[in-house]
Amino acid sequence: MPEDDVRLPRELLELAATLDAGDPLAAYRSEFVLPEGVLAYLDGNSLGRPLRITRERLARFVDGEWGERLIRSWDERWLDRPTAVGDLVGRAVLGAAPGQTVVGDSTTVMLYKLIRAAVDARADRTEIIADTENFPTDRFVLARIAAETGRTIRWIDPDPATGVQPAEVAALLGDRTALVVLSHVAYKSAYVADLPGITAAAHRAGALVLWDLCHSAGAVETELDAAGVDLAVGCSYKFLNGGPGAPAFGYVAERLQGELVQPITGWMGHAEPFAMGPDYVPASGIRRFLSGTPPILSMIPLEDMLTLVERAGMPAIREKSVRLTEYAIAVADEVLAPLGVVVASPRDADRRGGHVTLEHDLMRAVVEELWRRGVIPDFRPTRGLRVGLSPLSTSFAELATALAHVRQLLEEGSGG
Ligand SMILES: *Cc1c(COP(=O)(O)O)cnc(C)c1O
Repeated sequence: MPEDDVRLPRELLELAATLDAGDPLAAYRSEFVLPEGVLAYLDGNSLGRPLRITRERLARFVDGEWGERLIRSWDERWLDRPTAVGDLVGRAVLGAAPGQTVVGDSTTVMLYKLIRAAVDARADRTEIIADTENFPTDRFVLARIAAETGRTIRWIDPDPATGVQPAEVAALLGDRTALVVLSHVAYKSAYVADLPGITAAAHRAGALVLWDLCHSAGAVETELDAAGVDLAVGCSYKFLNGGPGAPAFGYVAERLQGELVQPITGWMGHAEPFAMGPDYVPASGIRRFLSGTPPILSMIPLEDMLTLVERAGMPAIREKSVRLTEYAIAVADEVLAPLGVVVASPRDADRRGGHVTLEHDLMRAVVEELWRRGVIPDFRPTRGLRVGLSPLSTSFAELATALAHVRQLLEEGSGG
């Protein structure tokens, strides 16, 4: 079959067309860079597409803020960017009041800083609760901090298909628990953990909680202030489209900011960076969680996306995300399950984030061939094809095209 004739059965194509026609966010797709060589992009949860407006904004930045204003821009605008963009993340995405979110560092470094600060603030408590299904960097950073500070990690080994259950956390919580570190949306299965419930349980035990929001931010709503979350960290290059290497965001609840001391005491977190004094005096508020010179360039695409997210609104974005994952599961059940594909993401929409993982022994080879064709999901070992569905840039027709290619390759019995 010629590659451009690859299609789903008619009723599934019609369903995609109906869903696109009824999608209140459909018009947002044209805001993104959509090259013809990409038939379908299903990896917006790893690296979001750029916005068209970003081209012009970056060019203007080179000529103006950087080219003409030069070093003067630090005083005029740049010094406040980490907290100003942080406030925008808080407002548009996290359910966080101003003054609690900062943008900077990589997710890995931000995780290190906030986990270390939290553990140090619970000096008499010796344990950290975490889970073995979390992303490698989270586990690696935790292991190092445990070693540095003489803490023990109490690992939960969750069922990968479900995710960390509140009862599993409750079983380990106690007066030795300093901190609980979990992902809100699991990077493999997309399982959505019970953020308010686990946060409340940790607090009853006197522990702090840090939520990793890498796979939530921009796809699944969080109400950090309302849930009383202590700390959160997330990526800005996934569903927030900040571009490769765009900085992380870190959230520290206002009530904890005076108490926590972060370990990377650089000049940008100093109360008076340009006083150049002999000793480190932390800035008041969220600024004390900065370390070095912030990545101003990367904040431009991020701000562009945040503006769009705020305009669309997280409730509508989440609604579309649910419709997209529902459609992917409907197609998988109808045409991929007979070929041996297993849906390895929750079927309950309330417990499912913005992606769907489809498992099959041939997926590694299938994904390789899909990429060659310009159909771009990603592969997660050992046998998962991850269908990442960025709500503002993905159409149902695009998703249908991609899944038709998956079906065709599996029918051929190989990666092509
Ligand atoms: C993507 C991701 C990271 C990435 O960390 P970086 O420092 O940005 O490379 C960390 N944690 C989780 C849960 C992720 O999904």
